[in-house]
Amino acid sequence: MRVKSFLPFAPPAIGEEEIEEVVDSLHSDWITTGPKVQQFQQAFAEYLGSPGALALNSCTAGLHTALATLGIGHGDEVITTPMTFAASVNVIEHVGATPVLADVEPDTLNIDPARVEPAITPRTRALLIVHYSGHPANLAALRDLAYRHGLAMVEDAAHALPARYRGELIGASSTPTAFSFYATKNMTTAEGGMLTGDPEFIERARMISLHGMNRDAWKRYGQGGNWFYEVVFPGFKYNMTDIQAAMGIHQLQKLEQFQRRRQQIVQAYTAAFAGEDTLETPTVRPDVEHAWHLYVLRLRHAALTISREQFIEELGQRNIGTSVHFIPIHLHPYYRDKYGYRPGDFPVAYEHYQRMLSLPLHPRMSEEDVADVIDAVLDVTRHYHR
Ligand SMILES: *Cc1c(COP(=O)(O)O)cnc(C)c1O
Repeated sequence: MRVKSFLPFAPPAIGEEEIEEVVDSLHSDWITTGPKVQQFQQAFAEYLGSPGALALNSCTAGLHTALATLGIGHGDEVITTPMTFAASVNVIEHVGATPVLADVEPDTLNIDPARVEPAITPRTRALLIVHYSGHPANLAALRDLAYRHGLAMVEDAAHALPARYRGELIGASSTPTAFSFYATKNMTTAEGGMLTGDPEFIERARMISLHGMNRDAWKRYGQGGNWFYEVVFPGFKYNMTDIQAAMGIHQLQKLEQFQRRRQQIVQAYTAAFAGEDTLETPTVRPDVEHAWHLYVLRLRHAALTISREQFIEELGQRNIGTSVHFIPIHLHPYYRDKYGYRPGDFPVAYEHYQRMLSLPLHPRMSEEDVADVIDAVLDVTRHYHR
């Protein structure tokens, strides 16, 4: 049993390279959006094969900017999943549109295309797709629906770096796609995000993300710059700083190495848990490559005498940090009260929420840490087997 210190759920993996690059930014005159942001944006687009990329200060900013750039607003409906972080849905409210939830598939917990179709109305403008835990959503069916109904698509890829759907990297298409570099994500810039998509879309998004000015600071304050600009949209203040990009440049170089470690940990978890009648391990469909942002274990209550809350408590007592992803959107007071949702309105999301927990999964975990998590989980299941 783990008698050492508490094992945190997802600490960042920052090395000396990131620290030196940040210090280099601080010694330079570019502390806000400058050459390192340009370099990071370009490296990120090249890595994914994205047609265009825009570095921003969060994934939330990327999603908000994407909806605003598509011209989605009052009177419009956007269909999305209840099984996500609130940011994916808050941005729909931010542009004044109405979020419409469609329940998830029981295996991947991604939005279910069969539930999307009946949710489409004459007001529907877009589908906002989340690649839950890093497993790509069923894009073939969703793209087909979007095409047949003339809807835009926006992808929330906060978990899906790097992930592939039928061989294609998420973020390589012309669909607006937002990534997160929040501290717990697969790579981090402390806070940060990237919006990828078609170059013309990205150019308009760049303007909207920075006050709606038709010239950014990089062009105004660099050599040969000119003071003149015009505001053509009441835009946002969502630009990334060179200090953030300094971290991103090195995190991106380490991403493949981080992912290999994540995969090893996932293999060890699944090998240990797959035969347990108390546990359900994550699904991976044959046509995807999973980014493994999260390892979501589901409890089988028929074989256990304790609740998910007690299970988490027991793991905490064994020094293992866990989390739950996510409290479904329709249970949050704002959405529940505004739209009159009841827990059973999205029965798949609700049922799976009550039995899920996310195990520690990050590249800094040692073999011993992985063994400690496995031992703790199996110990709890043995103690409380029905
Ligand atoms: C983390 C997360 C976000 C928000 O990312 P930020 O960079 O913190 O804005 C959005 N959607 C999902 C699914 C997330 O997990």
